[in-house]
Amino acid sequence: MDIDILGCSGGVSGNIRNTGTTCLRLGDHVLIDAGSGLSKLTLDEQRKITDILLTHSHMDHISDLPGFLANMFDHVERPVRVHALPETIEVLQDCIFNYQIWPDFTQLPSAEAPILEFVNVQPWQSFQLHGYEVTPFFVEHTVPTVGFSVKDIGTSHAVRKAQHSHFVFAADTTHSDVVVDELNRLGHIDTLMIECAFPDSKLDIAMQSKHMTPSLIEKTLDGLAEQPRKIWITHLKPAYEKEIRHDLRSRAAYHHWRVLP
Ligand SMILES: [Zn+2]
Ligand SMILES: [Zn+2]
Repeated sequence: MDIDILGCSGGVSGNIRNTGTTCLRLGDHVLIDAGSGLSKLTLDEQRKITDILLTHSHMDHISDLPGFLANMFDHVERPVRVHALPETIEVLQDCIFNYQIWPDFTQLPSAEAPILEFVNVQPWQSFQLHGYEVTPFFVEHTVPTVGFSVKDIGTSHAVRKAQHSHFVFAADTTHSDVVVDELNRLGHIDTLMIECAFPDSKLDIAMQSKHMTPSLIEKTLDGLAEQPRKIWITHLKPAYEKEIRHDLRSRAAYHHWRVLP
């Protein structure tokens, strides 16, 4: 599976190596989230994107969606499909695509042939896109949020590149029994990408804002019946990056983890 991490920071800063917020590209046509990492794609690359999976409505996951859509005028034969929970779509329609912040691209250039189509997703209702089977699942954050399980479903191209044949992106989430149960329900995971927004010294803030710290990640992983082959840790807040990395290095399982970027 070709996974391109365009951005995975928990904030913006010129001091960190990867300045984009969350945006992942799967193959040439699918994005997970549309944070500021999206702007690393050239215009030609942007115009190949047909589907965007949104985990939730927070700014660091949607900030480049308006500008991306504006690049699509005259370049899409069919609308770009944005797949998200109904609650997320409602917030985007009310707060962003309302003609005050940005135009309503579900009506432009015409209601008959718009450049944006919203598609509702529900946890555990799987669907297929460009050779992937996508399954949204519950995570625990301050607004309605889903993680996405992505499996190659056997196009010959995908099978040849199957190092990451079951990729799971756990979005923004804190530790909870629900999250552990959901990850266990997903079965064998090749690569789990999980956030770590705060260091352990900010455990209170992490719990309030429903994010992870290194010790909360460890608790979550301890609850899994089967350990994922690879753990990618992401979404570090720039202000705490040094401390988070220090905390991560002190965990026993650190040598199995890869901290992105
Ligand atoms: Zn969030
Ligand atoms: Zn976030």
